[in-house]
Amino acid sequence: MAEKKILVVDDEKAIISLLEQAFSRKGYAVRSAMDAETALEILENESIYVMFFDLNLPGMNGIELCREIKKRRPVSVIYAITGYASLFELADCRDAGFEDYFKKPVNLSTLMDRAASAFEKIERWKSI
Ligand SMILES: [Mg+2]
Repeated sequence: MAEKKILVVDDEKAIISLLEQAFSRKGYAVRSAMDAETALEILENESIYVMFFDLNLPGMNGIELCREIKKRRPVSVIYAITGYASLFELADCRDAGFEDYFKKPVNLSTLMDRAASAFEKIERWKSI
C-alpha cells in the first residue's frame, strides 16, 4: 500500500513536533511547513490529501491556504486547528472547505481518529 502522507502547517514549532511525533508513531509520513507558501511548495511536488492547518499563520492565513488547495485538490481532507474561535471564523472555515475544526490545546487521540477517517474517505472517493 502507498505511503499515507499528512501535511501539518503551523507557525509554532512545538505543535509541529507534537503532531509529527504522534502521526509518525501511527505509521504516517509527515510533511510540515511553518507558513502557507512553503506548504504550497510541498504540495507542488507531493501527492498529499490529508492536512492539518493552523489558522493563524504569518502571511497567507490557514483559511486562504485551505481555499487555495481545495481549488486544486477538491478531494483533499483538511482540518483546522486554532487557538481561538469566533462564529465569524467558523463560518469562514466552513466556506473555505475545512472538514472540521479543533481548538488548541489539541487532543491527539481525536486527531489520530480524524486522520484515519480522512484516509478512509479519500480511499472511497479515489476512483473519481
Ligand atoms: Mg499560529
